[in-house]
Amino acid sequence: MFRPMIKFEHRPVRHGEDWIQIGGAVRGVGSRIHDPGGWVWALLEALDGTRTVGQVVADLVRRFPTLLATDVQEAVNDLRAGGYLQEVEAPVQDGRYERGLVLWRWMDRTPGRSAWDVQLLLAQARVTVVGVGGVGCTAALDLVLSGVGHVHCVDHDVVELSNLNRQILYTERDVGCPKVEVAVRRLREHNSDVQVTGEQSRVDAPTMLRRLATECDVLVMAADTPTAIHSWTSEVCQETGTAWVHGGYDGPQVTVGFYQPHTGPCHDCGQTARLREVAAGPPLTFWSPGTSRSKAHAANAVTAGVSGNYVAHAVMSLITGVPAIPANGEFGWNLVRLQESQRVALDSPGPDCPTCG
Ligand SMILES: [Zn+2]
Repeated sequence: MFRPMIKFEHRPVRHGEDWIQIGGAVRGVGSRIHDPGGWVWALLEALDGTRTVGQVVADLVRRFPTLLATDVQEAVNDLRAGGYLQEVEAPVQDGRYERGLVLWRWMDRTPGRSAWDVQLLLAQARVTVVGVGGVGCTAALDLVLSGVGHVHCVDHDVVELSNLNRQILYTERDVGCPKVEVAVRRLREHNSDVQVTGEQSRVDAPTMLRRLATECDVLVMAADTPTAIHSWTSEVCQETGTAWVHGGYDGPQVTVGFYQPHTGPCHDCGQTARLREVAAGPPLTFWSPGTSRSKAHAANAVTAGVSGNYVAHAVMSLITGVPAIPANGEFGWNLVRLQESQRVALDSPGPDCPTCG
């Protein structure tokens, strides 16, 4: 017999006599309920997992004689639809994933789903990380720690001393060794539940990306060369229907973009819109002494790490729907102001997009 209970993470707080905050103060999860009559609070108190819905309704109607049974039933339905009820008994005692399961339960607003259902989706998923540099190291580590079933790493490079200020899978004794070899070994040491594989190769053509995309559920593009690599990924994933995520930074500006093909605008729609915007403005003149110099790669463990963490978060959102972040756009954070600084999210595919238009 179903005995509903408010999720512990969503436990309500009553503000004075009139208002209730449920789901905590986090926007996107929490909400405010106006309760001048006090019966909603009584209902929430009764939803402690010891009574059936029928018993809760009968109890409320007895205590508040003007209340209709249908009103109480509707309020229970609303709490269920809001994702505030724990419906499936799912003990989260598990040495490794216990804290993560509690977080899934907190963020998941899907009625009738347990935290274990979310974890199982991760365990069944295969993610390929192209480029285990600054962003890729952090993203791959997050995915392995979180219990994604299979993580495949691709990189052609060897570890250099200048990588060690941000590429968290490598140490001084790894300098000169192939990145993939070290990354795979270190990731396996972190979580033997996860199948970790790798290949030491350079992505230098769309054909190779096509193979990688068909072999995974989500592709992480964390390499920045060759320069066309994002467009290739966009095209290839549009063809194969593979969800993909890219992350990076431009100095203190950190970005993450994530796409679920055929559900909205693609990466190249955003790029086309951006180029159109630039073309509509006044002509630009660049500082001539700068044109002959190669662009310095400004990065540290914070910029690479923040980007890598957001990439892993986006990957897990694409796999599980938790949290339900709308895909098909690019998000940015300005680390100088500590705020969201840009968002390229078009409402629909661009008619002049070379990839999907
Ligand atoms: Zn497009």
